[in-house]
Amino acid sequence: MALEKYREKRNFKESPEPSGDTKLAAERARKTKGVKPRFFCVQKHLASHLHYDFRLEHDGVLLSWAVPKGPALDPATKRLAMMVEDHPIEYGTFEGVIPSGYGAGIVMLWDAGTWTPEVDDVAAALKKGDLKFTLNGYKLKGSWVLVRTKGKWAGGSDRSWLLIKHRDDWAGDVDITDFAPLSVKSKGDFADILAADNPDIWISHRPASGGEAGAMFEKIIRRALEMRAAPVGEKGGTGAKGAKGATGAKGAKGATGARGAGAKKKATKRRTSPRV
Ligand code: MN
Repeated sequence: MALEKYREKRNFKESPEPSGDTKLAAERARKTKGVKPRFFCVQKHLASHLHYDFRLEHDGVLLSWAVPKGPALDPATKRLAMMVEDHPIEYGTFEGVIPSGYGAGIVMLWDAGTWTPEVDDVAAALKKGDLKFTLNGYKLKGSWVLVRTKGKWAGGSDRSWLLIKHRDDWAGDVDITDFAPLSVKSKGDFADILAADNPDIWISHRPASGGEAGAMFEKIIRRALEMRAAPVGEKGGTGAKGAKGATGAKGAKGATGARGAGAKKKATKRRTSPRV
């Protein structure tokens, strides 16, 4: 496994994503040999489209699948999972804003924990296209399988797999992406994550302009800007608290003439749009 593809796609001077430490990868590969529990995560990623990146640690990297609809707890619901390039181990706890370039958008750590192979040889199972495993995350638990599909999906690419929950105590018909939509790291939503970073970033150029993702960005950016502009001391959720002193927050705190009008407008807005 290697991270060349991952690195090729990104400019680490512009992107806050980790580039991947080779020594750490080797050490983790050694420590997780066999069927020991190892790291897994799911990152909810709003980019050109909303999707969930499902990542399993194996051999020093995070094997990665993009799951457009996210995992489902109902064994009858098979979710398309497109295999993408391996990611560095350090990526597994990343949450934040990718301002531009590949994957530009917002990444939320939606679930994390450990996974344990239900097979003796993970490499052989991957090659065969049938990997059974147990998850122990905050949201996802119990037995699952990733099965490679042949020809039926996405133009028959060998990168298409299905993520399926096995029938056990952790299966059910709760829509988990809807039921538990927030971050397991910051407890926030996309707007909180953006507000804690730089909500001004996409004022002129958004990662997605049309469709569902475009509409989501629009709403999220607006909410993040509101949170960011809230007067200091007013409870504005994690985003406002974590704000790193950018123009919006400063303006609300210190300015003179503009302050009154701005604050009044904000107060009205805040009453009419309660946080969810
Ligand atoms: Mn992604």
